[in-house]
Amino acid sequence: MAVPKKKTSKSKRNMRRSHHALTPATVGECKECGEMKRPHHVCPACGYYDGREVEVRDSAA
Ligand SMILES: [Zn+2]
Repeated sequence: MAVPKKKTSKSKRNMRRSHHALTPATVGECKECGEMKRPHHVCPACGYYDGREVEVRDSAA
């Protein structure tokens, strides 16, 4: 098994981790109901996508 010859310095370790930051999820406003939804996803609030209902949801559930 390959073993590192030298301990990784704090500088090198932090340089490697400089790309690890998470970005907040982008959200947009649903054209149907105005709720916040993720782009290119069916609206979780009203089930609409691109101006039509694509997810059938009944109130009994
Ligand atoms: Zn909606």
